[in-house]
Amino acid sequence: MKLLLLLACLLPLLAAAQPRLDYQVYYAPHLTTEGLRVQLSVRTPKAEDSTYFHFANEVWGEPDLLRCLTGLTGAGPGYRFRVVPDSSRIVVYHPHGREVRFSYRIRQDAADYARDQFNRPRVTDAYFHVLGESLFAVPEFITKAPTEPTLTATIRWVGFPAGYVLHNTFASQPAGQQTFRGKLWTQFYRSLYVGGDYRLQRFTYQNRPVYLAVRGQWQRYDEAQVLSALQRTLTAQRDFWHDAGPASYTVFLSPTVTLRDSAWRGQSMRGESLYQGFKLQSSNNPFNNWELLRYMFNHEMMHDWIGGQIRGAHEELNYWFTEGFTDYYAYKNRLRSGDVTLEQWVRDFNADVIQKLYANAERNQPNYLIKDNFWKSRSFEKLPYRRGAVFAFWLDNQILKRSNYTRSLDDLMRELRQACLPPGQQFTDERFLTLAKTYLHEDISYLFQKHILSGADLPLAKADLIEGFDVDAAQPVPTLKIIGAPATLRERYLGLKPAAKTVAQQ
Ligand SMILES: [Zn+2]
Repeated sequence: MKLLLLLACLLPLLAAAQPRLDYQVYYAPHLTTEGLRVQLSVRTPKAEDSTYFHFANEVWGEPDLLRCLTGLTGAGPGYRFRVVPDSSRIVVYHPHGREVRFSYRIRQDAADYARDQFNRPRVTDAYFHVLGESLFAVPEFITKAPTEPTLTATIRWVGFPAGYVLHNTFASQPAGQQTFRGKLWTQFYRSLYVGGDYRLQRFTYQNRPVYLAVRGQWQRYDEAQVLSALQRTLTAQRDFWHDAGPASYTVFLSPTVTLRDSAWRGQSMRGESLYQGFKLQSSNNPFNNWELLRYMFNHEMMHDWIGGQIRGAHEELNYWFTEGFTDYYAYKNRLRSGDVTLEQWVRDFNADVIQKLYANAERNQPNYLIKDNFWKSRSFEKLPYRRGAVFAFWLDNQILKRSNYTRSLDDLMRELRQACLPPGQQFTDERFLTLAKTYLHEDISYLFQKHILSGADLPLAKADLIEGFDVDAAQPVPTLKIIGAPATLRERYLGLKPAAKTVAQQ
């Protein structure tokens, strides 16, 4: 009985600890002009005359987003509103009390967006594509919490015609109402909501659904090929990490600007990871590159783990790892999944990693300068990718050799992930070097300091690599080569020999 009483006392406290928000999103036949109407109702912790709501004016580099929010309307008389873009704030004056209910509309702030405007809300009669952060206002008594808040939100989709496609990172075709429970910034706001002329495809990985949501008529991408490339990549990645993945996962592929002629031969593509998903947006023209799309799948989705689950404590200073090792595993997993042969792998690694590193004017710059220049200089931006990938290749070979092919960098990566999964655990250079020492039985701090932090070239020599790899070091740019049968080397490099299969499968 005592326990019951205690529970009865605790329950209201728990309910108060996790705020609840109710949203209704309304369909309109002319979404271009009317926008998506969102009605929000919330109960404030105590009776008030006004309440501050957060609506980000800038999201992922996209400025002035409050221009996309219009039509603020209270649920009854006595409501007034003041929008303060610099503070990402909507001040809602309302009748004294704890119940606050109002609505607003989310619209495009231009008839068409440019090809590099990736993160503005897209709302047209044909479709919508809106980030959670640009769809849902949240009261500041939640957003201003010192640690990341959790919340419960119900979202009701009202008036959408039968057969209208509705899909988001939490639910597919939500019939009526969906409920979200989780974290605000990294989950609720890191979500994407689409609807309209999207086409949904689905496959499963260990009974967990994976969706491909595509719209537009792509001139160079065949949808069946896109789906199979996605399935191949994602399967190889989850197999690699021994990770069944989230309860549901969606890859969104949307065109930004479509050109049917040869007025512009370039391609502007961006991929960004979401909570339980990944979005790709690209210009669509006859010159789109199929290889680029496959590379994006392999590099960007690898960030769900490297950079996502293994989170760098020092952002740009850790890019040699979060970008360099992501890139290395983008290449290695393409070899593992059968996407490329070993000969192709060697050709690509030489051309896209080693040669580009040696052609980089900033290649011997120290790591700390990457922090200041990453967003300013294309050469600095690319430096950690290639420097890190070459280091990863060297380290992988060293672990394979010194363990007599019983372990590889793959095992180190999985162990690192396990170490970084608990809350508060992050990637640091020190954690990495300590772990590497247990694999190499040698401290590589000096080498790391010299080649990664100070920026001296890391020499690739045949003696450092596993049997079957050779390096032509006679040229100014070292070139990786294969000696002997590629199939044997592939097995050795990927650890496919039965003797090397000592890693426990989950
Ligand atoms: Zn990346």
